[in-house]
This record gives sequence, C-alpha cells and structure tokens, in this order.
Amino acid sequence: MRVLIVDDSRAIRAILARAFKELGVTDTAEAADGKDALAALAAKGPFQLAMVDWNMPGMNGYDFVVQARTTIPSADMKIVMCTTETEIEQVTKALEAGADEYLMKPFTVAALQSKLEMLGLVGN
Ligand SMILES: [Mg+2]
Repeated sequence: MRVLIVDDSRAIRAILARAFKELGVTDTAEAADGKDALAALAAKGPFQLAMVDWNMPGMNGYDFVVQARTTIPSADMKIVMCTTETEIEQVTKALEAGADEYLMKPFTVAALQSKLEMLGLVGN
C-alpha cells in the first residue's frame, strides 16, 4: 500500500509515517499542503490512501478532498481526515465531499490500525 501524508506540520507527518511503519507500511510520501498534495498525486501516484490534515496554509484539507475527488474515486484511493476535536463538526462536510473516514488527533497506532481495517486496507 502506498500512502500520501498531507499535513503542514513536519512533526505530525513524521509521527504518521512512523505509525504506518509500525503497521508494516513503509511506502509513504509527504505533502505540506493541498496544492503540494495534488502535485504529489500527479507525480508520485497512484496512492491507495491519503491522510489529510484540515488546517493548512494555501490549500486546506477540505479543498484538497474536493479537488482530488474530481479525478480519483474512493474505490481507487481512500481519504482519511486527520482532525482535532474542535474541528469535528467540519468532518461531516469533508465526508460529504468524498472523504472516507476521519482520525482524531492525538491518535494511537491502534486507532490508526482500526481505521485502516474499517476501510479494508489492512487485514484483521
Ligand atoms: Mg495543520
């Protein structure tokens, strides 16, 4: 599985990459905002999963989801919004725009694993 990690925080990107590594997923790429992520989809894809932060300068996570879903259906790439509790009401909007799941920050490796299982991306 190839995973695109989209977050303006380098620390969060590193934490996510390490969590995926613990789950045996080593094929990850990173992007710092929505525009960067769209470029990564074009240049480094296909990805089976995108982990997407909400608040980012430039193009935010919501706009990225809207843009990505104009060309990539959920069957080809799952999108998980990484969100804080204060952004939880916005998650509904992202799900309506084509995100598949959300992961609440701060998260555990076990929480990430269970989301991946729910999406059928890793075996139980
Ligand atoms: Mg952010």
